[in-house]
Amino acid sequence: MADKRDYYDVLGVSRGATQDDLKKAYRRLARQYHPDVNNDPSAGERFKEISEAYEILSDDQKRSAYDRFGHAGVNNGGAGFSGFGSDFGSVADIFEEFFGGAFGGRRRERRGPRRGADLRYDLTISFEEAVFGVEREIEVTRPEICDLCNGSGAEPGTSPITCPTCSGSGEVRRVQQSILGSFVNVTTCPQCKGSGEIISAPCTQCHGQKQVQRTVTKTVKVPPGVDNDTQIRLTGEGAPGVFGGPPGNLFVVLRVRKHEFYQRRGDDIWLDLQINVAQAALGDEIKVPTIDGAEELAIPSGTQSGKVFRLRGKGVPRLDRSGRGSPMGRGDQHVVVQVAIPKNLTEKQQELFGDLALTLGKEVIPQREKGILGQLKNAFGDFFSG
Ligand SMILES: [Zn+2]
Ligand SMILES: [Zn+2]
Repeated sequence: MADKRDYYDVLGVSRGATQDDLKKAYRRLARQYHPDVNNDPSAGERFKEISEAYEILSDDQKRSAYDRFGHAGVNNGGAGFSGFGSDFGSVADIFEEFFGGAFGGRRRERRGPRRGADLRYDLTISFEEAVFGVEREIEVTRPEICDLCNGSGAEPGTSPITCPTCSGSGEVRRVQQSILGSFVNVTTCPQCKGSGEIISAPCTQCHGQKQVQRTVTKTVKVPPGVDNDTQIRLTGEGAPGVFGGPPGNLFVVLRVRKHEFYQRRGDDIWLDLQINVAQAALGDEIKVPTIDGAEELAIPSGTQSGKVFRLRGKGVPRLDRSGRGSPMGRGDQHVVVQVAIPKNLTEKQQELFGDLALTLGKEVIPQREKGILGQLKNAFGDFFSG
């Protein structure tokens, strides 16, 4: 998914392109890359890419989903959302449910209980909140069953009547004759549009839609150890079901803000730390910031730039992926030491470095193991030994 190109780029149009612009761009490119006219082996792939981009952008609903969520919004392939067993659904499921028949048009409107749509809410939290967990209130605007008509869609005191055209089935069957014989053609009822009922006096609040948009406040418990793209499911907090179906779920997708100093890799935290030449050469006891507060760290004499120190258990709590119990242990913090060569020396310092220089000599020696390669080996020893 990561290398999937932006649909607007694929068609070579701006994000504000009109339907007309899109159609022109699509026609031009399709003529150029259609495998029937273009013998280049890559033309087929290109043509597919162009068709897909056009299919999404030419559909207002898909286009707005793409504008808001990118490829994740329109592709069933998903986009790097981590699964967490039964408690977390894949993004494909979410959008499949969310946009229902609008995508691919495979689903036919039918009467009968249908589960409500799943909804998505992106929640941004800080680095520390991801590490330690947090409880946050979110405001979600979602459809709810209209409380004026109780979801019937009809003005209180009136009720919907069964559609006379389809007798409530929502479908019209026609027997058609063809040279291959007769067959039954089933289409959505044109009078009730498949709902099976006619609302003569629509509810004034929902205008017969049976649902209204409401903003509700929900509490999200973010467990310790979450990361970007972790999804938290709020069961039954999605859109209401149709015809008595159960409600969908609300998925809270987490975005973790970058920290000023710390970098996260899995359950470990990495920190770059500068020490001065004297501390590196002579050794020192220093205080290192960790997410739990300052920690003592002994720098041995002769420490080189790039040396990595490990503070065990000072990393991120390991998320319990089973969804039960408390986090199991914590990762480590790695401190990568950089030796700073001083600039703008005082007179006194220049004098001292001068004396030092006399003792160190002027010899230069090509290095195999102690230069950049050696530093990498220090930093990523595990990867290089082997
Ligand atoms: Zn009907
Ligand atoms: Zn209503």
